[in-house]
Order: sequence, then structure tokens, then C-alpha cells
Amino acid sequence: MSTATPNLAKPRKPPTASKPLRLEEKFAKLGLRTDMDFVLHLPMRYEDETEMMTMRAASMRGGSLLQIEGEVSQCEVQYRPRRQLVVTLSDDTGQVVLRFLNFYGSQVTQMAVGMRVRARGELRHGFFGAEMVHPSYKIVNLGAPLPTSLTPVYHAGEGVSQAMLRKAISSALARVKWFDSLSPELVTQLGLKDFAESVKLLHNPPPDIEQFSLLEHSHPAWERMKFDELLAQQLSLKRAQASRRAKGATALPVVGELCNAFLLNLPFQLTRAQERVLAEIRSDLKQVFPMQRLLQGDVGSGKTIVAALAAAQAIDNGYQAALMAPTEILAEQHFRKIAQCLAPLGVKITWLTGSLKKKEKEAANTLIANGEAQLVIGTHALIQDSVQFAKLGLVIVDEQHRFGVAQRLSLRNKAETGKIPHQLMMSATPIPRTLAMTYYADLEVSVIDELPPGRTPIATRVIDQNRRDEVIARVHAAAREGKQVYWVCPLIEESEALQLQTATDTYAMLSEALPDCRIGLVHGRLKSAEKQIIMEAFIRNELQVLVATTVIEVGVDVPNASLMVIEHAERFGLSQLHQLRGRVGRGSQASVCLLLYQGPLGGTAKQRLLTMRESTDGFEIARKDLQLRGPGEFLGARQSGEALLRFADLERDTHLVEKARNLALELLANDLATVELHLQRWMGQREEFLRV
Ligand code: ADP
Ligand code: MG
Repeated sequence: MSTATPNLAKPRKPPTASKPLRLEEKFAKLGLRTDMDFVLHLPMRYEDETEMMTMRAASMRGGSLLQIEGEVSQCEVQYRPRRQLVVTLSDDTGQVVLRFLNFYGSQVTQMAVGMRVRARGELRHGFFGAEMVHPSYKIVNLGAPLPTSLTPVYHAGEGVSQAMLRKAISSALARVKWFDSLSPELVTQLGLKDFAESVKLLHNPPPDIEQFSLLEHSHPAWERMKFDELLAQQLSLKRAQASRRAKGATALPVVGELCNAFLLNLPFQLTRAQERVLAEIRSDLKQVFPMQRLLQGDVGSGKTIVAALAAAQAIDNGYQAALMAPTEILAEQHFRKIAQCLAPLGVKITWLTGSLKKKEKEAANTLIANGEAQLVIGTHALIQDSVQFAKLGLVIVDEQHRFGVAQRLSLRNKAETGKIPHQLMMSATPIPRTLAMTYYADLEVSVIDELPPGRTPIATRVIDQNRRDEVIARVHAAAREGKQVYWVCPLIEESEALQLQTATDTYAMLSEALPDCRIGLVHGRLKSAEKQIIMEAFIRNELQVLVATTVIEVGVDVPNASLMVIEHAERFGLSQLHQLRGRVGRGSQASVCLLLYQGPLGGTAKQRLLTMRESTDGFEIARKDLQLRGPGEFLGARQSGEALLRFADLERDTHLVEKARNLALELLANDLATVELHLQRWMGQREEFLRV
């Protein structure tokens, strides 16, 4: 009924020079172009306007959303206690007051005495007796019929009212050519409801429907929509994958001298999981189409070595490899670790980051362009236009979810013309199976599900902030035994300045409390060269305690560090805590993580801390995280798959995901006509950006 409700809350816009958008353009902004787009613009929720209450019944009920209708018996603007429009509606049984605190002059005339008004809102007993504040309303004639189905409420955009959407959608519903993209046999076999029937029901549900099942998206009509949507997503990701395959890549089949020497020189044996993953990568690299593999492994599971072995294979085949990391610290870690293994074997490694001086950058670019650089390690700087590879065969992207799609794609375009390099993406954020299947349907996934031997599990304690002194004493004892300690300062999301302040204070506090310890401080405001100096001092064991903000979140590897204190642990997310904790437990000594919290704890915060105490398994923690947070925040910059889902809920709809995936594979193999039909309906223009 918001039909006649003027947009009261928003002040009128000042006139602007640019032409106002036409309605079509406004719709287009919502992704609504074709009739089918409108048809698939499904309601977010519904309003029940099918029932009407008498004034008396309404006054007795109160508290909930109600609809009433009556004649205006009084309409006046009052000034006490503040300026407001007060309209009294009456019927045979009683009266209810409508109160508007913001209103236009036109409303005063619209609701003149004697007019008939149908109003819908929450009824309360207030200053004027039974009243509705800011109800939605419309002027009606006596005997105007009530709607016979629930009134849909759509996601709308700027300048697009519900009324406009309803009108456009119902004409699209009348006009569109109805067909089911899936055959009747398939629909029955999958236990689904008919497409047209489902859509129509969702736009105009009968009043006796169980509303809960609509809101919860569990009604069979919703099941059908969700299934179709997931199927479209699977189909388009798989197709994007196929089109990338079709571009071709250079096969890198040789496992040669370098690979062998590398393995021989390793001071340890690969774990079985590393062996398995390496075999998968090796067989991908032999192919003449590009590898598109995601390498998942918990922090400390040994992904870097595997990546380095892949790089060695590219080099053995006379090609270059590039490794890109999201931050300079991470890139530097890789550089150090990989250089340690590969440089002695004669591999030419080039370092390229944004902070290099112009001269140095130019020198690096020259080496990359003439092919002397066999392995290039760096940050975003690698994807600058000025960087031209002579023979790029393999791209490795660490912490891939931290990069945007576009950034990863531009590195891919640096191979020889017409081909794309093999790609290995790494992630320490374990992604539960359902998520991996939907978001990464275009990638092969390898998992390192085993930690190198000899690691002692990290013991985690959850400790009240009040016992800080004990914690400091523990840090002191550890430092005296020659162990190294991380002290992570609280996350203060609202203010970076405040976060810095806290870190500095903590540093001062610890320096005073532990005068015989060497303490360092790293935070995000430091220049990367400064950060580097401190990190290196810590790595060389010249510092015993490192006070840090979350800059140490990923990738730092100091095996001698075995105690970690995290302050205000209740402010961190689960995966962040897990990542942080992964900085200890990298050596052979027993490690401890102390989670300091300030009570009282909310329910979710408590759950998070308990999960951390009980589990060190990244996948288990990820599952819990997904439960607590939902998938939205989970995947960071991985937009492509996400943008394709509007209705399905990955956590709840696991059963549909599996079904959709199986059907997608089957259709792609046997029934391309259906694939076309289905994608056209569901994707429209949205598939384009997956094609790249
Ligand atoms: P990730 O990148 O997965 O977090 P790293 O590759 O940094 O893990 O490995 C963590 C540590 O474990 C490194 O010090 C590395 O040298 C060591 N490491 C890797 N693989 C093994 C193995 N198979 N046996 C023993 N140590 C290993
Ligand atoms: Mg790593």
C-alpha cells in the first residue's frame, strides 16, 4: 500500500544539472531490462492486505501490523508537543488516530474530512489513544475490493517505487513467453515444481499460504527458483572454465634437473598431502590448456614449498614463473624462503614491488622482459602495464581471495599472445565444501590436509583481561627461556589512529614491565622498509617480544615464536584469530595462544572464543565461522561466483548445490540446447564478466 505514501523521510533533492534518469534507465540500474528480468525480480517479502479489521477489533489487538479503513472525521495540523498532522479515522465501531510527524501540505487536503482512507501500520496506544504513527495509506472509494493475494514487496532502487515495480512486473508476467528450460521429465525426476507456476505464485501468493515458508525461502516455489539459479551458476562457471581452456597454454611437461635438485636439497620429506598435491599440479602442467587450480591448506601446512616446486617445473621447461602476494611482507617472506631453496641452484630470482626505486624497477623490468629473470616475486607491481614477460608459463597467486578478479586476470594476460599461463592460486582460508563447489566451480581444488610432522599442537587459553599481570609474567618467563613472543594489539575497526595509539601504549607498557627484554613494535602505519627491519630483527631472534597490530595476520614464519597473546580477542573474527594463531606452533616446541577478552561477552563472541579453544583444525573453524557469519563475508574479493546468486543460501541449500552441480555436468555433456536456454534466462548479461 505504499502506493500513495509520499516519500516523507527523504528531503527533496536540490536541482542538478544532469538530466534525470528515465524510468527505463532506473530499471536498468536494478538489472531489469528484459521481460524475464522483471519476471525473475522476486519479492523480498509480502504485506498482507487481504484482511481488514474494524476500528474496535484493531484497538483491542494492537502491537502488530494491521489494516483498517474508515472515514476521516477530523484532520488537523497540531503544534504541541510538536508540529504534526493528526487525522482521525472512524467507522461504526470506533476510531483510530493517524499521526504524521513529517508531511506535505498536499496530504492535509488529501485526507480532508469525509474522505475514505485505508491505512496500514502498527497500532499502538499512545498520546491520542489507539493510533498509528506514519502508516502507509491510500484514499479509496467505499467498497473498494481488497487484494486477494499477498502484496509483494520488491527490492527497489532510487526513484523506483513499489507501485512502479509492481506495474512493470505484472505486465511482464502477462507478456512473457512462458516455457520451462528443463524438460517435464527432468522436473519430475528432480522433484521440482513447474517454473511458470512457481514464479507466478511467488509474485502473487494466495493469502492462505504459509508465509513463513515464503520468507524462509523454503516453499517449493522457492526451491525451484533456487535450484534454477544454482544450476545457472554452475553452468556458467563451468563454461567460463571451458572457454579459458580453449585458449590453450604451453605444456610444461619436463620435471627436470632443477626440480630434482630442489627435492634432494630439501631438509625434510614432503608430507603425503604435499606429495599428492604436487602430483596433481604436475599432471596439470603437462596439459596444453591452462591449469586453474586452487591450492588450499591451513596455515603452516607447507604450501610455499609446493608452489616453489611448481615454479621449478616451469623453469625446467625454459619458462618464467611469477608469484604475486597481496602485501609486501608476505611477498618478502616468499622471496626469502624460496630464494633459500632456489638461488643456490642457480635460479635467477627478481624482486618487484611498488616500493622499489624507479631505477630498480626499470632494471627488474628489463630482466623480466629479456627472460633473464626466471622467477619473479612481488606484489601488485607485477601486473603493471610496464611489466612485460618474455616467456611467462606459470602464475602463482598467494592469498588469492585478497585480490580482485580483475587483478588476477591481468596477470594471466601476460603470457604469449593467444595463450594463457598456468595458474596456481593459494589460500590459507579453508573453504567448506559447499562453498568451494559453488564459488570455485571453475577451478580444480587441491587440499593439503596434513601438517608437517613434529608440530606440537597449540594450546589455547581464554583469559579475562583482569588477569593481564599473570599474562605479562608468563611472557616474561617465556622470554627468559629463550622463546619468542607475539603480542597482538586489539583491533579497533572504527579508528586506525586509535589502533595505532593502543599499539604504542602496549609497547610502552610492556617495555616498562619487562625491562630486560628486547621488544619491537610493528603496525600498519610504518613504511614497509621500517616494517621489514623490525620483522627481520624478530626473525633473527634479536627481539624477543613483537608487539603488533594485525599486520602479522598472514604468512609470517618464525618457528622459534611459541607464545602468542591476543588482546581483546572478542573483537576478532574466527578466521582472523585462526590466521593469527597460526603464527605460532611452527617449530617443534609446544606453543601457547592466550586469548585475552573483556567481558561481558556476547553470544557470538563467546562461541568464537570457545571454538578457538576447542579446535586447531582450520576446516572445522571455517565451518563454525560460516555458521556464525554466513557466507557473505567469507570470500572477500571472489566476486564472480557470488554475483550470480540472489536467492540461494549456500549454507542452507547444500542439497540443491549438489543436485545442481550434477545436473550441470550432465547437461554440458549431453544437452547443450538446454544449457543455452537455461543460461539465457538466468544470466542475461551477467555472464559476460566471467568469460574473460
Ligand atoms: P604455509 O604457506 O602453508 O602457511 P609454509 O609453506 O610457510 O606454510 O610452511 C610452514 C613451515 O613448514 C615452513 O617453515 C616450511 O619450511 C616447513 N615445512 C613445509 N613442508 C614441510 C615438511 N614436509 N616437513 C617439515 N617442514 C615443512
Ligand atoms: Mg604461506
